[in-house]
Amino acid sequence: MWTIAEQLSSDDRTRDCCITVVFSHAISCEKAAPPSSPVRFTVATRSQSSSGSFHHRPVRAWRHEAARDAAAASATTPHTPAKCTASGANDGCPLPHGSSCWNSHRKAIYISEEEEEEVFITVINSSSSEVISRRRGRGAASTTAAMASTAGSIIPCKAAVAWEAGKPLVIEQVEVAPPKAMEVRVKIKYTSLCHTDVYFWEAKACLLPLPRYLIILCTDSAGQTPLFPRIFGHEAAGIVESVGEGVKDLEVGDHVLPVFTGECKECAQCKSQESNICDLLRINTDRGVMIGDGNARFSKNGNPIYHFLGTSTFSEYTVIHVGCLAKIDKSAPLDKVCVLSCGISTGLGATLNVAKPKRGSTVAIFGLGAVGLAAAEGARIAGASRIIGVDLNPSRFEGAKKFGVTEFVNPKDHDRPVQEVIAEMTNGGVDRSVECTGNVKAMMSAFECVHDGWGVAVLVGVPNKDDMFMTKPVNLLNERTLRGTFFGNYKPRTDLPSVVDMYMKKQLEVEKFITHRVPFSDINKAFDYMLKGESLRCLVSMDE
Ligand code: NAD
Ligand code: ZN
Repeated sequence: MWTIAEQLSSDDRTRDCCITVVFSHAISCEKAAPPSSPVRFTVATRSQSSSGSFHHRPVRAWRHEAARDAAAASATTPHTPAKCTASGANDGCPLPHGSSCWNSHRKAIYISEEEEEEVFITVINSSSSEVISRRRGRGAASTTAAMASTAGSIIPCKAAVAWEAGKPLVIEQVEVAPPKAMEVRVKIKYTSLCHTDVYFWEAKACLLPLPRYLIILCTDSAGQTPLFPRIFGHEAAGIVESVGEGVKDLEVGDHVLPVFTGECKECAQCKSQESNICDLLRINTDRGVMIGDGNARFSKNGNPIYHFLGTSTFSEYTVIHVGCLAKIDKSAPLDKVCVLSCGISTGLGATLNVAKPKRGSTVAIFGLGAVGLAAAEGARIAGASRIIGVDLNPSRFEGAKKFGVTEFVNPKDHDRPVQEVIAEMTNGGVDRSVECTGNVKAMMSAFECVHDGWGVAVLVGVPNKDDMFMTKPVNLLNERTLRGTFFGNYKPRTDLPSVVDMYMKKQLEVEKFITHRVPFSDINKAFDYMLKGESLRCLVSMDE
């Protein structure tokens, strides 16, 4: 459901003029005479038949009295259409010109989803009959390509801004500039919180006392370069609002999942079958601007607000490089597949694409957050016979059973290294291990708990920048393999649609990862849930 009012520019809303709305038969209607009645509004639609030719659907008219407007503005159910007014013909079009006059700033005209087709909006001066502007608009879920009425303009919208490290985000009115070359502006419908957001939001600054007189304000305890104000968020689902110059693969209305690591499709990495680390668009946590011109697209009172991971999805609108957007099946529910845009695909791919356990094998998963549980799901899908979950938080264990985890180890319960405990449980070590904690000690344990001769350990967690991984070289000589992965080795544009398909075919369940839901205004609660270890994924609904 959407309103014509949403499609109009602020200029249109304040003008005292007629708004003509025409569905899908612009050519004949363009020549139509301006409407005469000031309040009647008629919508003509036509849809494409299976043979490819157009046929007209009945014309419907909605009439909204001014008194109903206030209610209409917040209404969630379509208004009952008034009786059909189809009749007459002009310029070869069998329908009436499908337009009427509407004082836009006083009326809200609702178009229900089944009526969503290409819509043409013509603004006509009611006294002179002169056409002031004419452009294509469209509904949010429309399937037909058209340029949004907001294309090319700055969009004021709400965003959750992190002004300082570790301080609650503040919902602010920000301005989002139009997309430049190879960029896309996306209306975010849902976003969720991944630990990587929390980690860079925390960005605790620290004072390093050095010998004698020297005190250095270091970047931070994690070796980050804190960048604020910043809009975080990288796990999301949205709809393309407008595209910049040179964008060919996406058009307005496409459903997309933003991804923190991109795929330019042209560099050596993108051309390699073995890599998903694009030379141009690989993850860069320090960059807070667009790659094209080095500027931010977000601002408040003329001051820039920095981007995060090229995605910044904690905003109603965001601008993203086309290479960081995977186009997905429009029938996929965005409030579910949202979580496939980072954590779940990462964990799943880490197991299926990198660790590649054989049927009947034993797999250890370190960290039973959403990423780790998705890795466990991958092990279950691959037919592992034992899946050993390792976590410091025992409250994770019960829920992890739903993800196929068969045994649990809490390192705190043992007075020797957890790798020794696991080696004992598995007669020398697991066949595969996947680390999803971000803790470097857990990374070392994950490597050292794999069986010699064939064991493969995969690191997924994002460590502190200054962390050092240490192990005895003999552990490698004994034919263990250590690997790491971003985004589960999926190439985002090429492969993510197939992960969405897995969900659509019910081969992958994503619902069980979504443990909490909050409206956008309560986004800070999502941080609390994650920090307390209560949530797997908290879905943030941007429209609430
Ligand atoms: P999460 O906070 O929900 O889960 C992490 C789990 O690890 C928690 O249950 C925690 O108790 C456990 N843990 C922490 N230290 C541990 C230790 N020493 N031993 C055992 N368990 C320990 O986080 P998440 O969203 O599931 O993300 C997991 C990690 O994956 C994070 O580091 C995140 O930054 C990273 N990540 C990496 C990629 C990638 O592409 N490589 C993508 C997304 C997330
Ligand atoms: Zn590339």
